[in-house]
Amino acid sequence: MARAAVALDGLSVGDALGETCFRDHNWEALQEDPRATTRGPWPFTDDTVMALGIYEVLYECGTIDQDRLARVFAARYAAQPWRGYGAGAHRLLKQLGGDVYWGTAAELVFPGGSYGNGSAMRIAPLAGYFAEDDYTTIAHQARLSAGVTHAHPEGLAGAVATAVAGAYAWRNRDRRADPQVKRDLFDEVLAHLPRGDVMRGVEHAALLDFGLSIETVVPLIGNGRGITCQDTVPFCLWVAANHLDDYQTALVRTIRGGGDIDTNAAVVGGIVALATGRAGIPKDWLDDREQLVIE
Ligand SMILES: [Mg+2]
Repeated sequence: MARAAVALDGLSVGDALGETCFRDHNWEALQEDPRATTRGPWPFTDDTVMALGIYEVLYECGTIDQDRLARVFAARYAAQPWRGYGAGAHRLLKQLGGDVYWGTAAELVFPGGSYGNGSAMRIAPLAGYFAEDDYTTIAHQARLSAGVTHAHPEGLAGAVATAVAGAYAWRNRDRRADPQVKRDLFDEVLAHLPRGDVMRGVEHAALLDFGLSIETVVPLIGNGRGITCQDTVPFCLWVAANHLDDYQTALVRTIRGGGDIDTNAAVVGGIVALATGRAGIPKDWLDDREQLVIE
């Protein structure tokens, strides 16, 4: 649970800071002086609320109990529906609180399953929790957590890719500045992905030199503008691997990429915090994020 909490801090600071960049001066501040951001509290969004749900279920059950997770997501949504959920998520989470079985509700709202990036945005606490288990277990638990709301194969793959990357970050934290360790993150992720568009995107990201500018990389592998796993996860993994030893730089460059900024920053922040530890997150940013209430 301590590792899961570090991941949750990394994720939620990214989410909250990223969200401010849609509407205040933090966008400019981050490009010039990352320590000159506006003072908080920066409210977190749906990414953090759902990550808290995963954290809660792992605390109570020690595994992803899908029935329990569906109820927790629904309860947290009902308490704070204004947290910035997408349109489809609104429709689904309302139904998860009722009598309809979650699998039936999800199929009604997203026939064939959702491949939105929501499966990846919330998963860092799970990566932390299972970081010392084998990667097969991590991938299995990731699929369970995604399956409640994102049953499409690409939705599952986005969760698996992000969870494996987070666990890899933890396992390699003592060598996080080693260029080969950074590069090898892609191989570990790819070893656990099914064939598909997320896999092809990660393969593409793995070929891109770490010296490239964000402006060069985004047109090649996306930035979450489509709010899908396919156009979110490859970009996030590229930034996280590139800056596995530097949380602040990872977040500044993620935000520079635009697109689904809060979710991109949540994904990258969750992974990189597992490598740097909580000490890697700028203290001001932790203080400025709306306080997390972990029950
Ligand atoms: Mg959000």
